[in-house]
Formats: sequence, structure tokens, C-alpha cells
Amino acid sequence: RRTIFSGIQPTGVPHIGNHLGALSQWQSLVKEAAQQPAESRDSLFFSVVGLHALTVPQDPARLRAERRDMFAVLLALGLDDAKGGAVIFHQDQVPEHAELAWYLNTVTPVNRLMRMTSWKSKLATLRNANSEDEIDDSMLQLGLLAYPVLQAADILLYKTSHVPVGHDQAQHLELARDTAQIFNRAYPGRRKDGKGKGKGVFRIPDVMLTTHPRIQSLRNPLEKMSKSAPHPSSKIFLTDSPSDIHAKIKSAVTDSIQGVTWDPETRPGVAALLQIFSGYSGEEVQSIARRFEGTRGIMEMKESLAEVVESGLRSFRGEFERIRKETGYLEEREREGARRAREAAQATMKEVRAAVGTD
Ligand code: ATP
Ligand code: MG
Repeated sequence: RRTIFSGIQPTGVPHIGNHLGALSQWQSLVKEAAQQPAESRDSLFFSVVGLHALTVPQDPARLRAERRDMFAVLLALGLDDAKGGAVIFHQDQVPEHAELAWYLNTVTPVNRLMRMTSWKSKLATLRNANSEDEIDDSMLQLGLLAYPVLQAADILLYKTSHVPVGHDQAQHLELARDTAQIFNRAYPGRRKDGKGKGKGVFRIPDVMLTTHPRIQSLRNPLEKMSKSAPHPSSKIFLTDSPSDIHAKIKSAVTDSIQGVTWDPETRPGVAALLQIFSGYSGEEVQSIARRFEGTRGIMEMKESLAEVVESGLRSFRGEFERIRKETGYLEEREREGARRAREAAQATMKEVRAAVGTD
């Protein structure tokens, strides 16, 4: 029986990269589970991971609003299905996440964390921001380095077997698997019958990489589309109006070559748009490119793309606007989600403490 966990940070309204790379897969998993017989149905946990958002500077009032909005997004996507759908919850309302992260910190080599591309690119960004090559040490917080350990804790806490994520998370998932193995070896616990060593508390989670490629920034096709990137024009938010969608796609960076071709190496901007097109239309990138070979191809492709994206987001937008106004309902779902998640989390922590000797 599968247990599936995934999370999203409340660092702003999600964009189409989050949608194609993660959220659409969560929706499919919920639909799939609804078809399964109750006794073998997948357990699904989808979390708004507020503790992760604290690794970048946050304004409290803004964070509070973003957390609530992200929760409303997950409800608007239909993930919290009354017919035994996923447990939707705030990670920061389940204190066992931080507790398990501490246990995992004690077995995680620091140099392993320093090799993470997410950490290295953060360092590079800070270096670029400073004219001299020196970085102010106070900008390098422990939380930023330890972030992947908290992510491992999020996953392992539910004895997760499968983690649906986008391609940018593959390295973090590798760390989560290794951490589970290291911890299981270090603290095997006792067998249930009390005779000899156990096998450790954690299940080794498999990554379920999305079939969609990584979606790139509309301003710089060499970077990924990112919630925390400063420029709103670099991304299409799930809540963007039709006119925003048209304007952003129209001004997306491509190149000065006429006509559309599929050539990700030399034409990354065009390729990035084709990937979004394919994500929302289901058509192959090559065949989309062939339809827009003519001299005005780029402009025509951009117009069609805006239509396709707009219609892909239309029903979500209405649902989100409706749900986010229903404060009482949102609070009730938040409480219920935290309660259900916490039940599972406490059971795992009990085993962890017994294995370690802190019980
Ligand atoms: P931030 O910039 O704050 O890190 P983010 O856009 O990277 O925000 P996350 O909350 O970190 O979003 O990630 C949520 C999920 O979205 C993850 O599964 C991640 O793999 C996926 N994801 C994020 N960006 C992209 C992208 N550009 N293309 C495809 N999937 C993505
Ligand atoms: Mg991210």
C-alpha cells in the first residue's frame, strides 16, 4: 500500500511550473486513489511547508496570508476530496516535523549538504549580488544549509513510499533516501517479538518524477520558473487574469530567428514556450513547432499558447477566488488536516524515540 507525501512552500502564488511539475500530478493521484478499493487505497499527504519558507526573510503578516492562500490553492485544486482524498495540512502546525529534523541532523554529514546544487546556487547568487567576492557570513544561515534535512524529515515522518516532485528536487530526494538508510542502520531498534535487532523505522521513499520537464523562466530561459524570483513577468501565476497571461507570454524572451523550431540547445527561449504549450495541450513539442514554422510563427505560437494556458487555468481561478473568501471553512479544513497529519506523525515519532532511546 502506497503512502505518498509532497509539499509546496508558501512563498507566493504558485505558477504554471509548480502546476505542471507538481500540482497536476497531485490531482491525478487523488483521482487515482478515489478509484481504488478502500482497503488498498493510497494514503496521500500534501503539505504547505511553512518552515521551509523561513529560510528566506519573511514578513509575518505576509507569510500568514501566503500560508492561507496556498492552503486555499490546494483546496481549489480539489485535493481535499471529501471521499477520502488527501490529507492537506500545514507542516508548521505539526511540530513533529521539526523534532524529526533534529534527529536526522545528528546523522547528516555537513559536506553532503554543502554539495547540494540548491545551496551552491544560493552561494553563487549572493556572490553576484556583492561586488567584491566576499560574502557577508551573516547571510549564510544554518537553516538554509539544513533545509534538505527538514525536507527529508517531512517525507520520512509519514513512512512515505512515493514522493511526486519536479525535476529540481531529484537531488534532495536522493538525500532523503540516504538519510533514511543511515538512520535505519544507526538505530535499527528491536524486533516486534523482542528477539534481536529491528530493521529501522523508516521506509526508503521512491521519487516519482513528473513526466513534464522543468518549466523555465519567461525572462531568462536558462533559469527555472520560481515562486521566489522577484520579477512577476518571469512567471505565469495560476491566478493571473487572461490579459496578464497574454501580456506575459507576448513579452517572453525568445530570439531573433524567424519561425518556430524545436531546438532546446540553441533556442532555449522558444523551447521553454513549447514545453509549456505541450504541458497544457498534451501535444508533442515537435508537432507544435511544425505548425508555426512560418515567418510570423513566433507571434502566432505565442497567441495560441496564451489561449491554451488561459483555458487550462480558467476553472481553477474561479474556484480559488470563491474558496479564499470562506475563512471559516478554510480554518476548519486546516484544523482537520493538522489533526490527521499529527496522528500519523506522532506514531512515527514514538518509534523513533524508542529506537534512539529517548523514550
Ligand atoms: P521557491 O522559489 O520559493 O523555491 P518554487 O517555485 O521552486 O518556489 P517550491 O515550493 O519550492 O516552488 O516547489 C513546489 C513543487 O514545484 C516541487 O515539487 C518542485 O519540484 C516543483 N517546481 C518548482 N519549480 C518548478 C519548475 N520551474 N518546473 C517544474 N516544477 C517545478
Ligand atoms: Mg523551490
